[in-house]
Amino acid sequence: CGVFGIFGHPEAANMAYLGLHALQHRGQESAGIVSSDGERLFGHRAMGRVQSGFSPTDLATLPGDRAIGHVRYSTAGGSHLKNAQPLGVDYARGSLAVAHNGNLTNHEALRDRLEARGSIYQTASDTESIVHLIAMSKKEELRDRIAEALTQVEGAYSLLFLTERELIAVRDPRAIRPLCLGEMASGSGVTHVVASESTAFDLIGARKVRDVAPGEMLIISADGVRSEFPFAQEPRKLCIFEHVYFARPDSTIQGVSVYEVRKAFGRRLAAEQPVEPGDDLVVIPVPDSGVPAAIGFADRARAPFEMGLIRSHYVGRTFIEPQQSIRHFGVRLKLNPNRAVIEGKRVVVIDDSIVRGTTSRKIVKMIRDAGAREVHVRISSPPTRWPCYYGIDTPTRSELIASSHSVDEISSYLTADSVGYLSLEGLVESVRSLEARAGDASGARPSAESYCHACFSGSYPIPFTPAAPNRQLR
Ligand code: 5GP
Ligand code: SF4
Ligand code: MG
Repeated sequence: CGVFGIFGHPEAANMAYLGLHALQHRGQESAGIVSSDGERLFGHRAMGRVQSGFSPTDLATLPGDRAIGHVRYSTAGGSHLKNAQPLGVDYARGSLAVAHNGNLTNHEALRDRLEARGSIYQTASDTESIVHLIAMSKKEELRDRIAEALTQVEGAYSLLFLTERELIAVRDPRAIRPLCLGEMASGSGVTHVVASESTAFDLIGARKVRDVAPGEMLIISADGVRSEFPFAQEPRKLCIFEHVYFARPDSTIQGVSVYEVRKAFGRRLAAEQPVEPGDDLVVIPVPDSGVPAAIGFADRARAPFEMGLIRSHYVGRTFIEPQQSIRHFGVRLKLNPNRAVIEGKRVVVIDDSIVRGTTSRKIVKMIRDAGAREVHVRISSPPTRWPCYYGIDTPTRSELIASSHSVDEISSYLTADSVGYLSLEGLVESVRSLEARAGDASGARPSAESYCHACFSGSYPIPFTPAAPNRQLR
């Protein structure tokens, strides 16, 4: 999912709309904005993309100089409008809206406990547990109620809260999902913005100030921005998959350009998994996600980079479609081989990851049918073997081809001449060294331990607490 917040702008809802537009790649199931004029909250939520869900008339129903927004794809809770965010509630202390990117690992256990105490859930999303915990807190100030609630949840969260008075942004102590702070000049003062990714700032003419720190809470009000650290410190575990695939390449995370990281993956991949050089060698990406890595690979391999697959821009990213049937059909709609580049060549095709392998298999076949003499698949991350419990919608273990197949078996399944993956060490080291060079504003030095890579390594930084056995799955 993606979150966006803005405080102190005369066109807050319009800005949120644009911000969400820039974050659309983080979720296309539903979109929502809640605004406030300082006295009341106003909300609009819709299924599908931002552009189709918000008309100028809808935006006109969202007055005020502050707003938060959300784009969703479901990791917990089905794809229904009632699960769309921001979630809004009225409770004894007033109105509150919340937008969440991440996934709570103890959600089922929390929900069992809260329902036993009498909480009535309106949605199937894990975010609602946070709202119940806030409502139950005996503390006076909202920031204390939020802090108390969040000490009871485990998992990944980048959260935005909006009330009539303030906008509160929180990043979990392990900083698994990204979140950053920006600002822009507006009339007499400064407008503060928060977003999952910095690319959202570019579109609205804001400047990235910094990443929100692990475990940091930013309280944004008419008095400005206040920073607090209400939680016990944990080792940072930034999601490395944001760099591999999820984030947009024009974003920066912890001071590092996602584009540059992906190029570094490609260079390292070329060194680790070379293909025999020659005049007939050509490096092509699977667009769009494979492009920066292919540039890095071609650079290191001293082979030409070409667009050997042309992408139609009139179909969305296939993986966000919840139905398996659509995914399969999507490949041909989305990619067409460019014969002029491929025919008679030995082709190295670069992609960021192989999930089920079904897309990759069709791509290899398409490239061969277009006249390639050899097809070598190179992947700019290690084999994806484990599901994510922290907010990325990977399929179950049994559907991940690499969880049950060796690289050689994957190569035969794909009908490739060879398959090579980036090593885990190569992945982590590429990000770590760029991050160390960029230098975090806080002076924190990343180590090899500063990243979550559980979907590749199986080394989960937070245990996942499953539902009580008698609980019906939703
Ligand atoms: P496959 O060959 O496994 O069917 O598809 C691989 C493609 O899925 C790659 O191009 C990759 O960009 C894309 N992909 C990357 N991350 C994810 C993810 O988290 N889930 C799914 N389903 N696909 C992803
Ligand atoms: Fe990111 Fe993978 Fe960790 Fe999930 S398991 S947070 S996708 S690195
Ligand atoms: Mg892709």
